[in-house]
Amino acid sequence: MRILVIEDEAKVASFIKRALEEESYAVDLSADGAQGLDLGLSGSYDLIVIDLMLPGLPGLEVLKRLRKEKIQAPVLILTAQSQVDQKVKGLDAGADDYLTKPFAIDELLARVRALLRRGAAETPGVLQIDDLVLNPATREVTRAGQRIDLTLKEYALLEYFMRHAGRVLTRPMISEHVWNQDFDTFTNVIDVYVNYLRNKIDRGRGRKLIHTVRGSGYMLKAD
Ligand code: CA
Repeated sequence: MRILVIEDEAKVASFIKRALEEESYAVDLSADGAQGLDLGLSGSYDLIVIDLMLPGLPGLEVLKRLRKEKIQAPVLILTAQSQVDQKVKGLDAGADDYLTKPFAIDELLARVRALLRRGAAETPGVLQIDDLVLNPATREVTRAGQRIDLTLKEYALLEYFMRHAGRVLTRPMISEHVWNQDFDTFTNVIDVYVNYLRNKIDRGRGRKLIHTVRGSGYMLKAD
C-alpha cells in the first residue's frame, strides 16, 4: 500500500513517514501543495494525507482538485487546533477523516488502517489466486487452508503481487511500490525477498504461483 503525505513541517512529515514505514507502507512526502497535487493526480496512491496550511497551494484546494479529477483515494486531513471550521470545509470537499494537531501517532496509524479497510471494501476484500488467499483486513495468508507466516516486507510484497496478479512486475516497479526506493540504489534485495516468499508460498507444492519472467521481472499467476 502506497501513501502520499503532503505536509510542509519537516519534523512532522518525517515522523509520520517513519511511523508508516514501520507498518510496511510505502510513503512519498511532499512539502508543497502544488507538487503534492501533481503526485496525487498520478493516481498511484492508496491513501493521501494532506495538511491544510501548505505553501504552493492550500490543502483544501489540493483536495478539491483531486476530487475534481476523480482521484478516489481516501484522504485524511491534518488541521491545527485553530482551524476547527476548516474541518467541516474539508469534509465537505471530500475528505474522509481529519486529525487535529498535535496528534498521537497511534491515532494516525489507527485512522490510516480504518481508511484503507474502507477503501478496500469497495473492491473485493479477500484476494485469492488459486489456493493462495490473502485477507488485507486481518493480514492473514493461507495456502490450501494452511496458514503462512510472513514478515512485514514479505507480506507487502505478496499483497502487491496479488493485487497485480497476471501482470509482469518489473524490479523497478517492485522497488518503488514495496520498498519506496529508487531501483538504481537498490538491486538484488528484491530477488532475495522474492526467494523468501517463494520458500514460504511455493516450496514443496505442485503448482508454483510466483514465476520469473526472464529479463523482465516476476509475475504471480495460477498456471
Ligand atoms: Ca503546514
